[in-house]
Amino acid sequence: MGLDVTPIPVLSDNYAWLLRCGETGAQAVLDPGEAGAVLRGVTGEVGLILLTHHHVDHTGGVDVLRDRWGAKVAGPKSEAGRLPRLDIGLSDGDRVEVGVCSGVAMLTPGHADGHLSYYFERAGALFTGDALFSLGCGRLLEGTAAELYHSLHRFDALPDETRVYAGHEYTLGNARFALHVDPENQALRRRVAEVEALRARGVSTLPVTLGEERATNPFLRARDVAAFAALRAEKDRF
Ligand code: ZN
Ligand code: FE
Repeated sequence: MGLDVTPIPVLSDNYAWLLRCGETGAQAVLDPGEAGAVLRGVTGEVGLILLTHHHVDHTGGVDVLRDRWGAKVAGPKSEAGRLPRLDIGLSDGDRVEVGVCSGVAMLTPGHADGHLSYYFERAGALFTGDALFSLGCGRLLEGTAAELYHSLHRFDALPDETRVYAGHEYTLGNARFALHVDPENQALRRRVAEVEALRARGVSTLPVTLGEERATNPFLRARDVAAFAALRAEKDRF
């Protein structure tokens, strides 16, 4: 009995994630960037809408879905002023429940102020929004390289088997840059071959394990803030 997680592709390359508690059937939707695709992708009731950050490609469906489902909306309390109306304002360390599956909000700024990731310990599932992507990381739209570096290294304490569910299907594009900066990395080359095969079949490259990302993601492998900042700047121009 765990947490079932299903991707719902929305907009051009976003994922909304459907979370379902295996024991109770309770459901939540994370980051519904639009309503239509999410409504088509979900059957049954949804009690909770979870948000990582305020960007509209993660929140555009919230008001319609809240009305349709009568769901509660939970997201970063510090961003309440620019999010759809929150029923539950969350801060770092606060818990969210989907049935009997419990997760913790982790403050992970750098891409957006107040950005939260959600870690469901028992399920081994980590929702990283636009902080961490497979083979990449978010752009520094509102924060500094140091902020995002420290945000990503909050995940260091989590097990290698942790499954990462990110906010976008950016993996193939990220792979080109990752190979450019780390061409001899055999684990990376294997992952890129796998990603190419998945995308050729139109299949999601997520989730990916944190262990796999530690072996392949140049942004997790950057040795310090300065190296991370240089990498982020190089990718912005790539
Ligand atoms: Zn964003
Ligand atoms: Fe986004």
